[in-house]
Amino acid sequence: MGTTKIEWTEASWNPITGCSKISAGCQNCYAAAFAKRLKAMGNPRYKNGFNVTIHEDLFTLPLQWKKPQMIFVNSMSDLFHEEIPDDVILKLFEVMNQANWHTFQVLTKRTDRLVTMSSHIKWTNNIWMGTSIENDNSIFRGKLLKQCGAQIKFISAEPLIGPISQIDLNGIDWLIVGGESGPSSRPMLEEWALELQAKAEQSETAFFFKQWGGFNKKRNGCLLNGKEYKSYPNK
Ligand code: SF4
Repeated sequence: MGTTKIEWTEASWNPITGCSKISAGCQNCYAAAFAKRLKAMGNPRYKNGFNVTIHEDLFTLPLQWKKPQMIFVNSMSDLFHEEIPDDVILKLFEVMNQANWHTFQVLTKRTDRLVTMSSHIKWTNNIWMGTSIENDNSIFRGKLLKQCGAQIKFISAEPLIGPISQIDLNGIDWLIVGGESGPSSRPMLEEWALELQAKAEQSETAFFFKQWGGFNKKRNGCLLNGKEYKSYPNK
């Protein structure tokens, strides 16, 4: 089982690793830094560092995990990256269809390709499809996400590096909000997070406040307005 420290999932499955930065939210990409470290440590899966690498031997791994899990797909990549062939993406969705006792969480910033491929994907209800939006400049991804056929759609507003005032959360089932962490983290203002919490309430979108982030993310915690928000969408 792929272990993960990501609070809103239970396991990770990385049949593909590696990606490239396309957006302001990618600036301090955790996966890029982690891949570099794993390469330096001699991990054979990361011999190409953060270049896109397909691990065919891991394609059917979730079928071997008998206990139902929430599984984050490609925590070390972006499943709709331009270097990943269509047939590989479709094969991985077929595994998700087959492993219907799990819930798969797929997160992409390449929503244009998601829309192009959506009609070829069988959207069983155990697949949650999400996109990352870090500020008002990336709201277009939410609009594209709404065009795909997934039954559960979610937005990850992490790292939240600016207000997302113009977003329409109708049709979005789940919203995750989090500040950036680490030594180079950019600050998240409380008013940005509160505005999103209010919007989620209005549109009855499940709201998950992951963290304030910052240099010491543990110390900064995950209370917003003195309250913990850890909701998940209704399956
Ligand atoms: S899309 Fe995601 S995985 Fe790829 S570089 Fe950006 S933050 Fe990292």
